[in-house]
Amino acid sequence: MKYLRNATIVDGSGAAPFRGGILLDGEIIEAIGSFEPPLETDVIDCSDLVVAPGFIDGHSHSDLKVLDGCVEKTRQGVTAEVVGNCGFSAYPMETRPEAVRQFTAEILCGDERWAWPSARDYLHAAAHTPTASVYSLVGHGTIRVEIAGMEQRPLTVTELDRMEGLVDDAFAAGAVGISTGLMYAPGSSAPLEELERMCHRAALRGKVHATHMRNYGAKLVEAVDEQLELARRTGCRLQISHLQAVGTANWHLQKVALDHIHQAVDEGVDVAFDGYPYLAGNTTLTQLLPQWTLDGGVESLEGRLRTKDVRQQIAAEIRANIPFPWTDVYLTSAASARNQHLVGMSLAAVAEERGEDPCESVFDLLLEESGKATMLTFNQSEENLRLVLTDPLAMIITDGLYVPGRHHPRLHGTFPRLLGDLCRRDRWFTLSEAVHKITAKPAMRFGLARRGLLRKGYFADIVIFDPQMIGSQADYEHPERGPEGIHSVYRNGERINLLGWSQDQME
Ligand SMILES: [Zn+2]
Repeated sequence: MKYLRNATIVDGSGAAPFRGGILLDGEIIEAIGSFEPPLETDVIDCSDLVVAPGFIDGHSHSDLKVLDGCVEKTRQGVTAEVVGNCGFSAYPMETRPEAVRQFTAEILCGDERWAWPSARDYLHAAAHTPTASVYSLVGHGTIRVEIAGMEQRPLTVTELDRMEGLVDDAFAAGAVGISTGLMYAPGSSAPLEELERMCHRAALRGKVHATHMRNYGAKLVEAVDEQLELARRTGCRLQISHLQAVGTANWHLQKVALDHIHQAVDEGVDVAFDGYPYLAGNTTLTQLLPQWTLDGGVESLEGRLRTKDVRQQIAAEIRANIPFPWTDVYLTSAASARNQHLVGMSLAAVAEERGEDPCESVFDLLLEESGKATMLTFNQSEENLRLVLTDPLAMIITDGLYVPGRHHPRLHGTFPRLLGDLCRRDRWFTLSEAVHKITAKPAMRFGLARRGLLRKGYFADIVIFDPQMIGSQADYEHPERGPEGIHSVYRNGERINLLGWSQDQME
């Protein structure tokens, strides 16, 4: 047994901190409060330290990386992750493994030839990770690629039946919900009726539908309304992923979107949302393109980019719609060696170096990299960020990607930044509120049993940190700088080595 003594306990519920001790028996919390521990207990003094539940990343893309024992999240205090977001899950891939690997490549960032035919296979593999407990949403995008490849079209009746079957299989194996990525082809081509059928399956089992909506720019409010309508029609619990208004001209829409969500809550719709504590987003370079250009997959895209008048048409559409200047878009990864020197540069600078228009640079890069490149865009306002994150419906997430280039600092610093910069320095939240948004809130939202709170009988997932020191040093220039002030992290009662795991330790 272990006894954490003299701790300031922030229990995850949002209640005020209190002084006391916590007794751990194996993987379970045995007692909490003021008492003397039994004899022969391993006593750990926590004077001047906060003891909180392990943090839960409610929107993770570490589906593959978490299996490797990567510690970027653990160093921040994360002990559980909800993966499979934005339509991208690492399963099912029984009939088209190559297509699924290609579809998920830039988001899941796996480098091996992984293949999990079903949710059961993936969740079995994920049950043995050394660092975090893994919970998964089944991705609508992945299911669609498994069924119909990269084709953008409504599914046939038979295909829809198969989709439902795959969703049910995933739930039976333990998936905590479904996710959609409606800005990512081919999931983006799904008509509302298709989403409705999936949401019905989720509603039947009380599971969540987490959605990367159709639009976060000029049509943000329409996109929110579509999701609220889907939730009303199906009774499905709705989680709006990384709620934000992208682009200066659209910042005023944030308040309207929040008002619509709160009206729906008042009517009884079960809706909540999440956000990461940074002003820049991180995604695939192809997100700059109109969706139709991706119909049929990368090879079809390459054909279009090689055809002069189609290329001009795409450029015209991008110029008419892009919500941020090229100086605010940065290349964060490129697959080949030849363009590594451009990683970290803005698209405006890349275009200048190449002596061409930024649209042309995007097209050329996509051709040179076979579509495999990612970007970071500064596109949100601080005022909106505060509005979203401090809303009682919000949980706070990393949305971090392991791009093989320059990372977004959120992969390394989200939770320490929340507790340091936003909580201690800027006073956006009390410590109890901030901890609640990264512990009990996600646990309740996704139905993670016995996690997210410090309670007798709960799993002993625990973070011990110095409230005066906790913070993130990771920034856009140096994203890989580790956090400060995290004393130790326990998952299921085991102290985790924050320096990393060797392969034999994982066996
Ligand atoms: Zn997303």
